Amino acid sequence: MPVLCSSCAEKRAVLKRPKTGHSLCKECFFWAFEEEVHQTIVAAKLFKPGETVGIAASGGKDSTVLAHVMKVLNERYSYGLELMLLSVDEGITGYRDDSLETVKRNQQQYELPLKIVSYEELYGWTMDAIVKQVGLKNNCTFCGVFRRQALDRGAIMLKVDKICTGHNADDVAETVLMNVLRGDIARLRRCTAISTASEGEGVVPRCKPLKYAYEKEIVLYAYFKKLDYFSTECIYSPNAYRGYARTFLKDLESVRPSSIMDIIHSGENLSVREGVKMPVQGTCNRCGYISSQALCKSCVLLEGLNRGLPKLGIGKHHRLHDKILSQQPLTEKEERKLKSVDF
Ligand code: SF4
Ligand code: ZN
Repeated sequence: MPVLCSSCAEKRAVLKRPKTGHSLCKECFFWAFEEEVHQTIVAAKLFKPGETVGIAASGGKDSTVLAHVMKVLNERYSYGLELMLLSVDEGITGYRDDSLETVKRNQQQYELPLKIVSYEELYGWTMDAIVKQVGLKNNCTFCGVFRRQALDRGAIMLKVDKICTGHNADDVAETVLMNVLRGDIARLRRCTAISTASEGEGVVPRCKPLKYAYEKEIVLYAYFKKLDYFSTECIYSPNAYRGYARTFLKDLESVRPSSIMDIIHSGENLSVREGVKMPVQGTCNRCGYISSQALCKSCVLLEGLNRGLPKLGIGKHHRLHDKILSQQPLTEKEERKLKSVDF
């Protein structure tokens, strides 16, 4: 006996929703998924009419679903938003060049303007070149720091009011777990926020409309909608620590699907005891980007790359920032310590 959709009770159910366990037909699933994203947007007041919103687009499933759903909801509920796609080209041959082709097709399919900013034009380094110098252990640190700033710079070039990213519920839960395991209180407090206000000049507010969407449902949505997305993993993806958190989360989800939401809620409800010291946000003395140190992370990493001292931005070398800024030479011992790439 075919199972009927538990929502419309007319059509045949084609899937069991990973988030709720309901058996639904395709149309009712699309509707439920889109409505939940709409509710998230409305409840958190993510956008105002007339705003220009840059959708961070990588060509992957999350950002492709985000672009699609944002376009659908913007029309269905007359959000009054001007949507654009914003992509970062990290310079990873065999990965990003292919996924950017997907973004270019998405641009045509969704008829949205697209801006691509590249690490090479912004920093003078591609990820291919960075990996050659730093190896495969800390490459994601460089990539993550550079991406954050690249998105802001692209957003400013496009004059967008906000950036929305495709972070899903699994990503947020994973980050909560990682920050708990590392005892990173400052990040733990920030990581569940659905939106961030501008933290200073050059920093565009960000939000995560898919914050409560399960990754499994994003995959189902993309599959049943036949969306055009790129599913290959980055060739430089070691990020072992996140990998463990991810595997742990998937194991939890398989015995208790609500674990993902439960972890997010735990993160949202944690409060930091009064008097706990938090980093004070200032600006980078070199590029003006937000930073809690004399130099922002991106400038330190770049300085390290340009000087052939790749370890400069890895670990804590804050006391060297002033030295670098005032162009004082490093001692031989300092240089030696920062040079080795066997980290
Ligand atoms: Fe960059 Fe690492 Fe992501 Fe690859 S896996 S795109 S290197 S952050
Ligand atoms: Zn800087």
